[in-house]
Amino acid sequence: MFKLKVLMIVLVVKIFVVFIGIAFFVVVMFSVDGGGVGGGGEFEDDMETEYTVNGIAPEVERFRPYFTKYAKEYGISEHVNILMAMAMQESGGRYADVMQSSESLGLPRNSITDPEESIKQGVKYFAQVLKNAGGDVELALQSYNFGNGFIDYAKENNNGAYSESLALDFSDYMAEKMGWDRYGDANYVQNVMRYLDSTTGTAGNSDGWALPLKNITITSDFGPRVHPVTGEVNKWHGGLDFACTPADNIMNVADGEVVEVIHSNVGYGNYVTVQHGKNEFSRYAHLSTIDVRNGDEVSQGDALGKCGTTGTSTGNHLHLEHLTQLGQAHEDKKDPRKTLGL
Ligand SMILES: [Zn+2]
Repeated sequence: MFKLKVLMIVLVVKIFVVFIGIAFFVVVMFSVDGGGVGGGGEFEDDMETEYTVNGIAPEVERFRPYFTKYAKEYGISEHVNILMAMAMQESGGRYADVMQSSESLGLPRNSITDPEESIKQGVKYFAQVLKNAGGDVELALQSYNFGNGFIDYAKENNNGAYSESLALDFSDYMAEKMGWDRYGDANYVQNVMRYLDSTTGTAGNSDGWALPLKNITITSDFGPRVHPVTGEVNKWHGGLDFACTPADNIMNVADGEVVEVIHSNVGYGNYVTVQHGKNEFSRYAHLSTIDVRNGDEVSQGDALGKCGTTGTSTGNHLHLEHLTQLGQAHEDKKDPRKTLGL
């Protein structure tokens, strides 16, 4: 009887130790990403942090709970920091109409007198332009300033993509049309982005990656998640997933040399790796076809292949990785969102 009791106690202690072990493991896993826990499957997009905050003043920072609340309400939780950077540009947090959103309601400037109401309306309006812009943050930002007409203008004149020169053209075009001296702030994107620090810091020449697809919709973030196919928990997702269709070209993010062209039915499927510098590689997985060969010199924007769903994949998408060396563990790779400034 005594022996049984001892055994029971030993068993309880063992279970307790295992439990502590698991809890510790979970805490460690989920703290690696600085609190930005995705925890989502392939199509969830509920990451909180993608930009580290650089220059958000206390005057705007004090309203963070409102930004968080309304970003969630309007389905753009991942853009809280962008919204706060916009508030820096709009008011610096010094006016009650924090987001200067009265104009989006057709009201005179500063006619909203409640900060929460201003933030709510500003977030709602940004969510709307972001949707119209197909998730393209730069196009949405510029349209927040110019109005939705800029999205149509981008579609007509630049395949729906934002560029600095397109913004300048639109500003001139509208000023002339309205008979005004100037129209809007053609540098709005740069003016907002200076409040955010989206660089990785250590990769050296990783600045200046171009987007790998014409239309950007992120479907799964970099970091720990439940694997969408195997269901394994805490699997580190070593790249960033984008929605795409088989007609879409997968475009090279920066000048470099093709160092891997692999055809496979498992894992990454058909994939290409491009080297851009001594410690900088981009990898493009699940392609249907590949248009380059090993050793090719490729320029930024070159088509590497077509979007596909080869390998371990649940549907057409691009899995993009940023590596600092070949053969790197997933956890050691870089978050492409940061390199791309998304
Ligand atoms: Zn992926």
